[in-house]
Amino acid sequence: MSVEDRGFIFGDGVYEVWRVINGRLFETERHLARLAFGLRELRIDTPDIVREEMLLEVADRVLRDSGLSNGEASLYVEVTRGAAPRAHAFPPAGTKPTVFVMANRLTPADALRERGAAAITMPDIRWLRCDIKTIQLLPNVLAKQAAAERGATEAIMIRDGIVTEGSHANVLAIFNDALHTHPLTNHVLPGITRAVILELARSLRIEVVEKAFTQSELYEAQELFIVGTTTDVMPIVRVDDRTIGTGMPGQTTKRLSQAYRAFMDESVAAERGVVARSG
Ligand code: PLP
Repeated sequence: MSVEDRGFIFGDGVYEVWRVINGRLFETERHLARLAFGLRELRIDTPDIVREEMLLEVADRVLRDSGLSNGEASLYVEVTRGAAPRAHAFPPAGTKPTVFVMANRLTPADALRERGAAAITMPDIRWLRCDIKTIQLLPNVLAKQAAAERGATEAIMIRDGIVTEGSHANVLAIFNDALHTHPLTNHVLPGITRAVILELARSLRIEVVEKAFTQSELYEAQELFIVGTTTDVMPIVRVDDRTIGTGMPGQTTKRLSQAYRAFMDESVAAERGVVARSG
């Protein structure tokens, strides 16, 4: 990769992370659609990798080469505006975007899921296009590091008194038995896990309220949890050293967590994989 790559120099790029189970990608199309949206918003030329057949072919090869065709893994795809002499404005037309793909082993934090995790709150100092999954993650990095230094799993970000999301996960809470989460605006990433969880909640007849809640309301939640591709559903039982609900993972959280795991396993098992698809 060139040292003049605009991803390296400016953070000028977007990325996606897929959950992979036994070599099969979960929610292929939704992640591709989000990647295509980010590229469009940033006016980066669309590379071939956003075509599903191409993605599956590359994923298959990378997973195989990495010895990750079985068990749990993640697939990371990054697309930057490409390499060019350093200048803020876009590079000359025809500059090819850089595409980088890697696969990593993933170990779901199931023991922590059983007892529930701790979180801290942090001011949300990010820009106003948090709906784009850009590789510029410094506020998220600093927030997650602050959480780690306080023995917590996640940092929950607060903008103008409102809970937006975590450093790498969306935040959901139960109030009066209904599931609340920040609506899809420029202040949050449209998480794929969030979308799946809301669908599962509706199918379980849990009321869904896409409405922002405040930091003070956060501490009073009946149940609280975060969701993300590498997080699944993680109950949060302490925030800023205050106990949430009973201090144990709540019933609704557990139901959704189990439903999510079952849905993920069923849907990857139903995938035919790249060989069958192309053959
Ligand atoms: N919010 C932020 C800031 C993230 O970085 C992520 C995932 O990396 C999420 C939410 C969860 O999104 P997804 O469920 O698509 O992984």
